Amino acid sequence: MTDAIISKRSRTQLAANMPDYAATYGSFSWNTAHAMLDGMPDGHLNIAHEAIERHVADGHGAQIAMRWIAKSGARTDYTYAELSRLTNQFANVLRARQFKKGDKVYALLGRVPELYIAALGTLKAGCVFCPLFSAFGPEPIQARMEIGGANALLTSTRLYERKVAGIRASLPELNEVFTVDGATRGTTDLKPLLETASDQFETVQTSPEDTALLHFTSGTTGKPKGVVHVHQAVVAHDATGRLALDMRPGDVYWCTADPGWVTGTSYGIIAPLTNRTTMIVDEAEFDINRWYDILSTEAVNVWYTAPTAIRMLMKAGAEAIGARSFPNLRFMASVGEPLNPEAVVWGNDTFGQPFHDNWWQTETGGIMIANYAAMDVKPGSMGKPLPGIAAGIVEVIGDTVTELTAPMAMGELALRPGWPSMMRGYLNEQARYDKCFKGGWYLSGDLAMRDADGYFWFVGRADDLIKSAGHLIGPFEVESALMEHKAVAEVAVIGLPDETAGQIVKAYVALKPGHVPSDDLRLDLLGHARKRLGPAVAPKDIAFRQNLPKTRSGKIMRRLLKAREMGLPEGDISTLESDES
Ligand code: ATP
Ligand code: MG
Repeated sequence: MTDAIISKRSRTQLAANMPDYAATYGSFSWNTAHAMLDGMPDGHLNIAHEAIERHVADGHGAQIAMRWIAKSGARTDYTYAELSRLTNQFANVLRARQFKKGDKVYALLGRVPELYIAALGTLKAGCVFCPLFSAFGPEPIQARMEIGGANALLTSTRLYERKVAGIRASLPELNEVFTVDGATRGTTDLKPLLETASDQFETVQTSPEDTALLHFTSGTTGKPKGVVHVHQAVVAHDATGRLALDMRPGDVYWCTADPGWVTGTSYGIIAPLTNRTTMIVDEAEFDINRWYDILSTEAVNVWYTAPTAIRMLMKAGAEAIGARSFPNLRFMASVGEPLNPEAVVWGNDTFGQPFHDNWWQTETGGIMIANYAAMDVKPGSMGKPLPGIAAGIVEVIGDTVTELTAPMAMGELALRPGWPSMMRGYLNEQARYDKCFKGGWYLSGDLAMRDADGYFWFVGRADDLIKSAGHLIGPFEVESALMEHKAVAEVAVIGLPDETAGQIVKAYVALKPGHVPSDDLRLDLLGHARKRLGPAVAPKDIAFRQNLPKTRSGKIMRRLLKAREMGLPEGDISTLESDES
């Protein structure tokens, strides 16, 4: 934690969508947020209608809705009117092939235009959309299709041959596989169907409580859970896009997440369109030069990314920016993992504004706690609850939940249920879902603290808390202290069993270019940590690693470091990405 505050008063306060957080928090209601949407007759609500049709009807059909950047660098623009027609065609294809309201349409595709068209066309048709990350292997794909009961799949011939053909026989509910690049044995060529389908379609009048999306969690703490979201969620997507990400109509907006993870759908498809921005979709993977090029050439106004990417940019240093400048960049935000204070300050030094950390989960469907454009930023803090969200720090003992109100008391981060994008269930896991709710709270499974000013501070996941010699130690605090050291690019901290102390703190460190592991460096790091944290909290041991194990959504898998260190089974590793250590 740091005492430095990045003040906003002089800069963005007056221009921000939410110039006065306290006033908005005090007067906000979800009903009013709902009323800002168009809606459909008789209280019906459909995400795709709010994302596209509303804007076309309002005369904004000619605005670019999506600018797609192919791996080759070629750009293709889709206006709101074009997106309307294309998604109508997809909805008509689904209807012609006998898919009906509530059927589950899965996608296993890279970030190509068809993925976005299918997502919105599926919702228009009243079907349920479930995006899968295209790098999954056959087993995770099979498990996710079985759990959700996939009826249709959209993929490419290559992905089908490699990953789906072999498991098809075990998916009796999968009636049809559409492929976007021709057909292969057992699949239907989507292109000719789309081309001959009518581009007129009347969006299905879904009720706000009709299921719209299935998303699987990142699998950081164990087997991924299938999370159910309804059309009503669009009220939160729209409001959080405006309030937490400061999106404005006409903005160029870039969310770097893949729709295979909830961020890439809530904030990579829905919120940017309901807020009528022009969204950038990049087909390629992370690349420092490419990213800086996109930010400057596309004149991005609002950029939503993640700590892992930010740390990689930091690792490359500000030199990597070269002669580029970003005069249009108005707001930068981060989600998915704790954002070290170092990274927030680096953002401020490098781009003239901090990264705004925000916190949420697949389960919450949208941003719940955030640093806002017009609010002072305390680097290392997740910010304050969104208007409409009541958050608390609680202690759970048996069935009793007590709110801890003392400043900086550590407990579980909990939310009062009732916001529009709250999950409506875990697929096939009713008991697990029920366990999330106790004493009138939704329990997040994360530990946090709230300071006297109402800012929330992430401590760690409940599973990752370290108990050492009578101290409770959150890995984030230790990791952030080590991140301050000039040699450190990334760090993960875990607790290992110890006879005397109960647990001892161990850190795994990946170094920046130009630094090599050595005993001297280890001692230097240990010394730095002791000075910053005191001997009780500082790590007792540091191991150097080339890479840290991460989920494909970029989250460090501390449980895997621990299992490996202790020789225990690795558990579900279906979402594991980089694994060379
Ligand atoms: P699983 O539930 O399968 O273990 P997961 O929790 O990583 O996976 P997600 O729903 O994608 O799956 O991630 C939500 C979690 O990510 C949060 O509960 C929290 O632990 C972490 N997280 C998200 N944003 C932040 C943030 N700004 N600061 C700290 N942690 C964050
Ligand atoms: Mg989780």
